[in-house]
Amino acid sequence: MAAANQQPLERNRGNKLPGDPNSIPQIPPTSSSEFSRRGVSRRIVLKHVAAIGAGAALSLRPVLAGFPRVDSNSKRGRIDVHHHMLPPFYMDLRRAVTNVGPMPAWTPAKSLDDMEKNSVSTVMLSLAVSGVAFDAGEAGRSLARKSNDYGAQLVKDHPENFGLLAALPLPDPQGSLSEIEYALDILHADGIALLSSYGDKWLGDAAYAPVFEELNRRKAVIFVHPNAPNCCTQVLPHVPASTMEFLFDTARTIESLLMNGTFSRYPNLQFIFSHGGGTMPILANRMARTFPKEFASQVPNGVLYELKRQYYDTASASNPTSLSALLSVVPSSQVVFGSDFPFISAGEPANDLMHSGLPVEAVEAINRGNAARLFGRLGPK
Ligand SMILES: [Zn+2]
Repeated sequence: MAAANQQPLERNRGNKLPGDPNSIPQIPPTSSSEFSRRGVSRRIVLKHVAAIGAGAALSLRPVLAGFPRVDSNSKRGRIDVHHHMLPPFYMDLRRAVTNVGPMPAWTPAKSLDDMEKNSVSTVMLSLAVSGVAFDAGEAGRSLARKSNDYGAQLVKDHPENFGLLAALPLPDPQGSLSEIEYALDILHADGIALLSSYGDKWLGDAAYAPVFEELNRRKAVIFVHPNAPNCCTQVLPHVPASTMEFLFDTARTIESLLMNGTFSRYPNLQFIFSHGGGTMPILANRMARTFPKEFASQVPNGVLYELKRQYYDTASASNPTSLSALLSVVPSSQVVFGSDFPFISAGEPANDLMHSGLPVEAVEAINRGNAARLFGRLGPK
């Protein structure tokens, strides 16, 4: 089933925002609604790409003083869509998997502590980490149910701080349909979390169509976290799957969803792809140009149209090269804040975004507004 021999995704680099709000820099004023009105034009992309370029962070620091800190008020702080929970029952399963590296120790208190330090008011919890398979059958159903009950209890205890992206045993479509009903109707989960691949199947696989049809009917948000498929867990010896394969697998599952018409057939689905879409931004034009003509009816509006309307998180993608590549394909309205805690502190993307050179409105939308649009209960009351 799903790849089981990945190394831990990333080390927790422990980045934190400066403690003094006055020390947090301000992004220089720009024509403010450039991003929000009509997405990113080529001219604006080039301007911002240049601003993000080599040395920009250092050179901008003196003129960025006074950036209004996003506080931890639950209606104003950041919304982190890429935040893992690692419950004890999951860690027990993970320890039984051979050939995996150490995992960070996680508790709900550690989540709340990192959130407080980095002005994150709400995180969307997910169990979507590779290493433990969601088998078709009772084991997969049981893992999803345990995960969802565990997460729902945390949301109940901290409704302002935690949301839940429910796990599904996707290799078992019938079990997934039952879990959708339970997670969304009984637990009131905020969305669904899936992996980019399961064994040797990607999300566009025809076997999964009934699941996406139901999620489309419910206008669900679907967070897609990378995995390494059976083919590619250790293509290069000693190179962890998280280094490269996760990013390629994200692009691969996007291609699968394009080829099988999932995006166009189920337009109410609201996908969030992790890590800025992985290698998708670099490959986007190639994916469009070489899209098989015999599959053109699956994307009647074109490949780029579908890529531009999906959402992408900033986890490990807030650095200048990744962010500029992503924003050269999609408007900033489609980018949402993600950290990858407990592997990486929210301080890393928070700090990167503050020094990105993007207009303040775009940064604020990435920090909160774009996700608040996706998750209705977090939007303005
Ligand atoms: Zn992650």
